[in-house]
Amino acid sequence: MAEYKEYRGMCVVGECKKYYGTDDAKVIHEEPKGVEIKNVHLHDAVIVGAGLAGMYAALELKKAGYDVAVLTKVFPTRSHSGAAQGGISAALANLEEDHIEWHFFDTVKGSDYLGDQDAIEMMVKEAPRIIYEYEHMGVPFSRTPDGKIMQRYFGGHVKDFGRGGPVLRACMAADRTGHVLLHTLWEQCVKYNVRFYSEFFLLSLIIKSGKCIGVTVWDLINGGIHVFQGKAILLATGGYGRCYSITSNSHANTADGLGVVMRAGLPLEDMEFVQFHPSGLAFLGVLLTEGARGEGGYLINNEGERFMKRYAPEKMELAPRDVVSRAMWAEIEAGRGINGQQYVYLDLRHLGAQKIMERLPQIREISMKLLGIDPIKEPVPVQPTAHYSMGGIPTDICCRVLADGKEKWLEGLWAAGECACVSVHGANRLGTNSLLDASVHGKRAGKDMAAYLSTNPPYEVLPEDCALDAIKQIEWLLNNPGTERPGAIRKELQENMYNLCGVFRRKEDLEKMYNIIKDLQRRYKNILVQDKGAKFNTDLMEALELRNLLETAEVIVASALNRTESRGAHYRRDYPNRDDENWLKHTLAWRTEEGVKFDYKPVVITRFKPEERKY
Ligand SMILES: Cc1cc2nc3c(=O)[nH]c(=O)nc-3n(C[C@H](O)[C@H](O)[C@H](O)COP(=O)(O)OP(=O)(O)OC[C@H]3O[C@@H](n4cnc5c(N)ncnc54)[C@H](O)[C@@H]3O)c2cc1C
Repeated sequence: MAEYKEYRGMCVVGECKKYYGTDDAKVIHEEPKGVEIKNVHLHDAVIVGAGLAGMYAALELKKAGYDVAVLTKVFPTRSHSGAAQGGISAALANLEEDHIEWHFFDTVKGSDYLGDQDAIEMMVKEAPRIIYEYEHMGVPFSRTPDGKIMQRYFGGHVKDFGRGGPVLRACMAADRTGHVLLHTLWEQCVKYNVRFYSEFFLLSLIIKSGKCIGVTVWDLINGGIHVFQGKAILLATGGYGRCYSITSNSHANTADGLGVVMRAGLPLEDMEFVQFHPSGLAFLGVLLTEGARGEGGYLINNEGERFMKRYAPEKMELAPRDVVSRAMWAEIEAGRGINGQQYVYLDLRHLGAQKIMERLPQIREISMKLLGIDPIKEPVPVQPTAHYSMGGIPTDICCRVLADGKEKWLEGLWAAGECACVSVHGANRLGTNSLLDASVHGKRAGKDMAAYLSTNPPYEVLPEDCALDAIKQIEWLLNNPGTERPGAIRKELQENMYNLCGVFRRKEDLEKMYNIIKDLQRRYKNILVQDKGAKFNTDLMEALELRNLLETAEVIVASALNRTESRGAHYRRDYPNRDDENWLKHTLAWRTEEGVKFDYKPVVITRFKPEERKY
């Protein structure tokens, strides 16, 4: 038998043959009292998250011959990538002239010059290849009459280095683009025998001597803690829209990856930049794709006016999201919301029934099912909805996680997709660039992980206490004799975040919000998880998620308070101008017991010098 070590309470199974010299399930010690460690699993690579980023990486690793485990808290095809509607960008020029260089410029300008230009250039160059790869996998894209991939307009994507009109760049499958990409990737992963562990919830990273060697997770179906050890670990856990009450994000988008990274002592980057999408269904936040405006939809206020002509006279409804959301909010504040409420109308009636049913069938279905409104006959009430996180876990261009946020790689750990900050979106992401980001960087992470594995790094010996924090966390939640229910704290957090740290921000509001979060964190210590069971304990899961939401919201608000300028999606009423002299830099934020600490790093500018951003 090969080198062998006892782990108290662990039952070693499965893939561990390579290392432990046995593939029998083997209970080494008696089970500990209380929360159990059920299994230790060994895989070459461990990926947390089964959206586009996670599954693309898994496929690359599997094709390179490595053994991969993908852990996900929801079934893979329920990942939020599947909710994406409008499209994925690439300068294919299928319908009209377009160039990779134009896409490069638009993304830099869209980012309000905070995106790193080396990373952006790499992404837009890779875009056509990614689309063709998807096509070869079998993605059923919409087609032009001559059989090419159909493309539509999207905000901020224009001709001739910003000088021309909108350009047809968003590759689409009606208004279900994310759905077909996700399902096709899933089919490929099944074909290549990627191993999935569905409904496993990430609890912590295992870091030993400055190296990430695994994760601990909670088995949602059966209860119990599992340890996944690997030589290469990827976080692809998606966004954190659920910090807000009005959001387009699915219920699973609760910042779990970010919480885990912060608790491992790592920084987060550019967290003040939260994108609000202009067209969330009023009161609900559910998304109506920007493609609806790309197809020619209007935004109108209570006077029936297309108010965008006063905010972005040239690009109108197709200005980038930060510009349109601010315009909507300004109308609402000026009393020109419909019925004096927090919404305006998205009017599609002039597009006609045929176009709506052909190009925007899901939008129609959502409006009819959720609000009883048929967009063919009536305008649809919409309001800005928390949509996308530009910030996240700092990585380099190969998706390696940076322990100091700047240069130093935390060996063994990668991050890709919406949870990561490369940064290709800077202060504001252009629509359709995120499916692209998740795919390009998922693939890139997979390739880099495979290259690392090919150097044959050894498996480290797991520290005996590797799951201690995770056990303590679960035991505390199950046994805490508190009175506060997770739902009540979460609701207060979300509603206040929408009102105090939303489209417009100001010092007093942000300070108020910070104090609210501190108070909610105190109340969290008195939390009550009523369900004590092991099996599918959603009460426990919501309490775990809430901690991540509270800690992430704290960093968002502190970073927003710290950045005394307006740039992209971060708009300070008290500092309405962009301030390149002091703030053309990325924020790095560490959450500590004494509050949030900051450091900065320069923006990579290679080609396009910062200019005033007008649309
Ligand atoms: C409604 C909507 C429409 C959109 N439309 C577009 C569009 O048209 N074009 C575009 O470019 N972008 C769009 N976006 C953005 C884009 O869809 C996302 O940014 C992108 O899909 C994120 O992919 P991802 O792989 O990073 O994460 P996701 O697809 O969100 O997947 C995250 C994964 O992490 C897992 N996970 C999370 N926490 C845990 C945990 N604790 N334990 C285990 N697993 C965990 C989840 O189970 C999931 O599998 C849209 C977003 C929304 C919300």
